[in-house]
Amino acid sequence: GSTVEVDPGVEIDEEIAEDDLLGGLQIDSTADIEVPDRLVDQVIGQDEARDIIIKAAKQRRHVMMIGSPGTGKSMLAKAMSQLLPKEDLQDVLVYHNPDDGNEPKVRTVPAGKGEQIIEAHKEEARKRNQMRSILMWIIIAIVVVYALFAQQILLGILAAGIIWLIFRYTSRGMDAMVPNMIVNNGEQRTAPFEDATGAHAGALLGDVRHDPFQSGGMETPSHDRVEPGSIHKSNKGVLFVDEINTLDVRTQQKLMTAIQEGEFAITGQSERSSGAMVQTEPVPCDFVMIAAGNLDAMENMHPALRSRIKGYGYEVYMDDTIEDTPEMRRKYARFVAQEVERDGRLPHFTHEAVEEVILEAKRRAGRKEHLTLLFRNLGGLVRVAGDIARAEDAEFTSRDHVLQAKSRSRSIEQQLADDYIERRKDYELQVNEGGVEGRVNGLAVMGEDSGIMLPVMAEIAPAQGQGQVIATGKLKEMAEESVQNVSAIIKKFSDVNLSEKDVHIQFVQAGQQGVDGDSASITVATAVISALEDIPVDQSVAMTGSLSVRGDVLPVGGVTHKIEAAAKAGCTKVIIPKTNEQDVMIEDEYEEMIEIIPCSNISEVLDVALMGEPKKDSLVDRLKQITGSAFESQVNT
Ligand code: ADP
Repeated sequence: GSTVEVDPGVEIDEEIAEDDLLGGLQIDSTADIEVPDRLVDQVIGQDEARDIIIKAAKQRRHVMMIGSPGTGKSMLAKAMSQLLPKEDLQDVLVYHNPDDGNEPKVRTVPAGKGEQIIEAHKEEARKRNQMRSILMWIIIAIVVVYALFAQQILLGILAAGIIWLIFRYTSRGMDAMVPNMIVNNGEQRTAPFEDATGAHAGALLGDVRHDPFQSGGMETPSHDRVEPGSIHKSNKGVLFVDEINTLDVRTQQKLMTAIQEGEFAITGQSERSSGAMVQTEPVPCDFVMIAAGNLDAMENMHPALRSRIKGYGYEVYMDDTIEDTPEMRRKYARFVAQEVERDGRLPHFTHEAVEEVILEAKRRAGRKEHLTLLFRNLGGLVRVAGDIARAEDAEFTSRDHVLQAKSRSRSIEQQLADDYIERRKDYELQVNEGGVEGRVNGLAVMGEDSGIMLPVMAEIAPAQGQGQVIATGKLKEMAEESVQNVSAIIKKFSDVNLSEKDVHIQFVQAGQQGVDGDSASITVATAVISALEDIPVDQSVAMTGSLSVRGDVLPVGGVTHKIEAAAKAGCTKVIIPKTNEQDVMIEDEYEEMIEIIPCSNISEVLDVALMGEPKKDSLVDRLKQITGSAFESQVNT
């Protein structure tokens, strides 16, 4: 359970809370909402991950977070750094080692002390240099005066020059006295947070710069070339590594050593550089690690590193959606306020604009009575809308700005799908009126959030011997399965023996990546039955749904996007599984363009999709007799 319930500082009308998009929050704009100071209180949803972060901060444990991008993994890691004690913070100094120039010494002092030490050393070096230059000028003066007396002016100038050079040359050695502060926590107000996502070995583990002048007085002393890695900068704080599996294995191994030892010497990472000869004394790196990634990352990560985290910490899975409650919707309103405040330049959102954002969160969840937790994308929408408002010099970001932002911030897939539809219109591949035998407008989802119309064509031909299902491309398996499912039904009502026929199935232009298969099985079934019985299919109808052997229409994903795709393609009716009815969250503009027909049985689907009354009616009647739940058909054609 969550312990942190933050008072939004705004009146809530409990009477309307249940149905209100803002959960009864009485605000004119997001300016009325108070944003909590601590990052951990700003996190919405992810109760389990948040509780673990709070616990792990107390116990200084490592955490592994698995989940989709943009759900708050790095936000929680940063939040954890705010929860760690800052009293422990340290500065780290690297000193010249007079005994071995290639093994600089390392000293750790309380935070803030480092600056003083450096200052003291610099002061001393300055004084010394001052003394030296006074000494030098005295000697030069003596030499010059002597030369004048001896009437050897040229020789005198030469000698003065040599003396000047000698002093300059040796003064370099003085710089070696000043240590190099590689970790400076003097100004740090919370424990450090280091994001080492995608860091190369040097950035993660520290490095020693190459020195082109390795001798001759021009060289930089080795301790001055030492550079800290994220593991050192996050000492006493949090080291966050997203996409942990992309670190190469050797680096993961070294990271593990660092975790085990709590200190890690810095050496040059590129073998042929002069830095590789240098190795410091061990530098402290007592960090808490938060490793993140998607499920895939976990499989590919170094097993020893994973078990290290598992053994000494926690693993937590991030949710993608959360149940839609009035309290949650109020938090989403606060999310808008948070993002506006974080950006600092966006105009606050009006009540109606927030409603539109929450509606979008519902839509993007793709699951009934849930809200999406993919906040990075939702935050993107907030920023685009705010930017549009700002460009217009508007005082507030309005609903209209949010709507504009929505059409602008289409995903790559969505843009691709739209482009695709445009192109297909040009080639007249799209058919959205009249009747065609064996051709059905199916619907599929591309990527995560865009629908596309995907016509299916079926052709029946006598087989030479055993009949087979002939389909091409990636969707072959799915086609075979749906034909098998539908053949069980066909057997019961038709004289045609499918096993003596070849069924050819073609997915028109389905060269697409990322088109899901299963949701097209009522499409394939309808196409096959239409071809078999020579009954045309109404092309103004599009459909999506999965089919059981009993003829039931089963739910599928992405209905909202599919319906919108059908509307965009010019269809006037769309069939969806009845069980998906509550997942529909289409935008108003589409609602008038297309009629949504929920179906629970294949007979209902055919009743809507097939044309040519007498033949169709007899077919649908026969089907109703044999398939399960068709009697309560509520379809109105
Ligand atoms: P991840 O690390 O999981 O990819 P981030 O933590 O970087 O995601 O999230 C990006 C941004 O989205 C955050 O800076 C924050 O503004 C917003 N955000 C993400 N998750 C949440 C959440 N659970 N609650 C509130 N805001 C969130």
